[in-house]
Amino acid sequence: MNRPCISRCTFLNAAAGIALLAAAASFPGCGRSEPARKPNIILIFCDDLGYGDLGSYGHPTIRTPNLDRLAVEGQRWTNFYAAASVCTPSRAGLLTGRYPIRSGMCDDNIRVLFPWSAGGIPENEVTLAEALKAEGYATACIGKWHLGHLPGYLPTNNGFDYYFGIPYSNDMDKVRYLSMAEEMDPKTEEFNVPLMRNEEVIERPADQNTLTKRYVEESVSFIRSNRDKPFFLYLAHTMPHIPLFASVEFNRRSPRGPYGDTVEEIDAGVGRIVETLRETGIDENTLVVFTSDNGPWWTYREHSGSAGLLRDGKGSTWEGGMREPAIFWWPGRVQPRVVADLGSTMDIYTTVCSLAGAPVPDDRIVDGMDLGPALLESGPGPREVMIYYSGRRVFAVRKGPYKAHYFTKTEYIGQKELEHDPPLLYNLNHDPSEKYDIAADHPEILADLERELQQHAKDLVPGENQLIRRIE
Ligand code: MG
Repeated sequence: MNRPCISRCTFLNAAAGIALLAAAASFPGCGRSEPARKPNIILIFCDDLGYGDLGSYGHPTIRTPNLDRLAVEGQRWTNFYAAASVCTPSRAGLLTGRYPIRSGMCDDNIRVLFPWSAGGIPENEVTLAEALKAEGYATACIGKWHLGHLPGYLPTNNGFDYYFGIPYSNDMDKVRYLSMAEEMDPKTEEFNVPLMRNEEVIERPADQNTLTKRYVEESVSFIRSNRDKPFFLYLAHTMPHIPLFASVEFNRRSPRGPYGDTVEEIDAGVGRIVETLRETGIDENTLVVFTSDNGPWWTYREHSGSAGLLRDGKGSTWEGGMREPAIFWWPGRVQPRVVADLGSTMDIYTTVCSLAGAPVPDDRIVDGMDLGPALLESGPGPREVMIYYSGRRVFAVRKGPYKAHYFTKTEYIGQKELEHDPPLLYNLNHDPSEKYDIAADHPEILADLERELQQHAKDLVPGENQLIRRIE
């Protein structure tokens, strides 16, 4: 196996990585063979999809044949984490490659941005779209944004040439108080969510029944019109976040009920996108990544998803809140296998920058790591540590198989926070459901995890809190 010309551009060796990238560009025969053109990137991001919600991740009744096929032909990661357990900070982590505390896109009480919010992703953050646009990529954000809906914060001001979607969650802007039962039998006109094209509202309320279908049509059209140049498509589905809607072809079809309808429609969209890549002959130059922002929103009972064998869901730092399905597919390049190494959505940033030859910013800490060697050469994953934030506070840390919880809070709303001293300790390889606390037997592991947190805290400069800013 040839060693890669492209080095791992972590924040620790970004400068060296850039130099090596330049060298690789000058000597195209060196190391692994580089495609003639920069690869296209398609990042499909779901909302509130749980670890256990795909057939390939063990769901018994949700039918996801297209994703299951990508999982077999590509890589299926089983220890892959969102950057946070709720929408806004998770998306900030994805698009900046940094823990959301650094950009200020998190708060302990106001967990996400709302229609009354005045904040958004700070201008000095380098989004993945900005990094790729600088390398000549055509860029589109299709779907839910949720990183600031005021003009300065919209996708078109954050590196995306094109935007089609809703600026925040689909359950916001309710026209009246809705009981939980009403939200689980939703009518699209009861959520006054705007649908936007670039900076214009083109429909309000957005017809949510057809959102998934229209997102896919927009994606197919973007792929077709950019087939001759490198592109980055960020397809951030609104579903399966409640209220659940599916188009006529999928409504009431899944044995899993309305939740299954939405996931099966997303899966069919993945099939259409892959078919488009094959038809246009660019499949072998396109990396497709599929994952989700956080775990299932248990408050909504059977209208929420499943974290499989993992504990708890959205809003919590138990595994079910942040561990997600993650599938990487690139025919002929991504080596087919199941990967149990640690990974994070933040790593997508650094990995994609590396693949595109885009420099990772070296004037700030970037937490993402380059998964390239693991994806393309079956090498080991570079990530050893994952830190679990709840808002602006660290609740837990994982290193290798071990995870310590300093605080826990179950589910999303109204539950009491518990402090653990000594911390709870689990071996996640042995005990993925976090049932058996082994802290008493392993003080040395707790001490090691504590050192990791101290190391993390040493260079941490929290960003100005963006979530508490209100429109006057
Ligand atoms: Mg979410």
